[in-house]
Amino acid sequence: MKFKKKKIAIVAGARPNFVKIAQLVSILRKHRFFDYKLFHTGQHFDFEMSQVFFQDLKIPKPHFNLNIRSGKHPFTTQIALIKKRLQEHFNKEQPDLCLVFGDANSAIGGALAAHTLDIPVGHIEAGLRSFDRTMSEESNRLVTDLLSRFLFTHSESANKNLSKEGHSTSKMFFVGNTMIDALVRHKKEIAKRKVAQKLGFKPKEYGVLTLHRYNNTDIKPVLDDILQAILMMQTELPLVFPIHPSTKERISFFSPHFFKQLKFARNLHISEPVGYLDSISLLKDAKIVLTDSGGVQEETTFLGVPCVTLRQNTERPITVTAGTNVIGGITKDQILSEFGEMMQKPKKRKKIPPLWDGKASLRIVRVLEKKLL
Ligand code: UDP
Repeated sequence: MKFKKKKIAIVAGARPNFVKIAQLVSILRKHRFFDYKLFHTGQHFDFEMSQVFFQDLKIPKPHFNLNIRSGKHPFTTQIALIKKRLQEHFNKEQPDLCLVFGDANSAIGGALAAHTLDIPVGHIEAGLRSFDRTMSEESNRLVTDLLSRFLFTHSESANKNLSKEGHSTSKMFFVGNTMIDALVRHKKEIAKRKVAQKLGFKPKEYGVLTLHRYNNTDIKPVLDDILQAILMMQTELPLVFPIHPSTKERISFFSPHFFKQLKFARNLHISEPVGYLDSISLLKDAKIVLTDSGGVQEETTFLGVPCVTLRQNTERPITVTAGTNVIGGITKDQILSEFGEMMQKPKKRKKIPPLWDGKASLRIVRVLEKKLL
């Protein structure tokens, strides 16, 4: 009798998802007893936000592309469309498991689709909480965890959060950080990139800025305060700013006068978003990183590079307690104060968080072997 492989549906659609699936896909495609199908929701679709990650991280082309683009649909419509289209595909494909990643709409859409069809869901990066219900990412996290049969966590505090919410410990698997898997795997290629040098900067003589959270870019007074802080910080440290397409759009819409000022600021190097390998190369050699990205807070902690988070909270507290991260706030004064302090006394990492070692995806596969085969 022919052995039937178990089918795993992997749902990804946003930039950080591609980083998180890379190592897992590389293991699953060679696995004897698992077959995977990759569903790209289309949430991010520009070359710089999507295809470049498939190239850099050597991820095979998705099996299905749903083409449900951000910007074209309002937030909740996008989740509903992802759910509906995935349900149609899952009905045909009949996967044995659906894996979703992080806190983007693709995660909650995938979890809803699978759950309604009685397909078990595995959430990678479960249990993270900012405790800020005004963030759509937070509701995505809460609901995705509720719908999941397997809660794969990357830090002990995530397990604690899940326990407090009443999730059974039998569903929780502390496996480590899949984003760091990609970084560890591509260390040599990253070292060769030397992006800062190509831009004319010496290591540790520039900063990197990334900005894209809706809570920062969709509220004009918040955005204006952050932009004012950026204009002041670049006079003290040259800043490289690979700008997210939605942030570019929001600045042009809300504050076109700022866009002109940013463009002409002497020490601000604005570019299109960079690919994965270039991004880590830039982060690695930076003196300070300013960001509202979840992934970048983790990468800077792993790399030991000081990071000022342009938010009022983080769902990744280990990057503050063990790592190089400080909460920089969202007002001009607080950001400038935290930046100034970091310039004077760069924060040192205490330790690399446990299980951020390049083997998280392997641990996930080991759990699935035990539970599904
Ligand atoms: N990143 C990238 N190019 C950029 C900015 C970020 O490759 O221009 C990478 C970054 O190194 C990290 C990931 O994108 O691996 C984080 O994605 P993002 O900040 O969009 O999402 P979040 O982590 O906040 O969910």
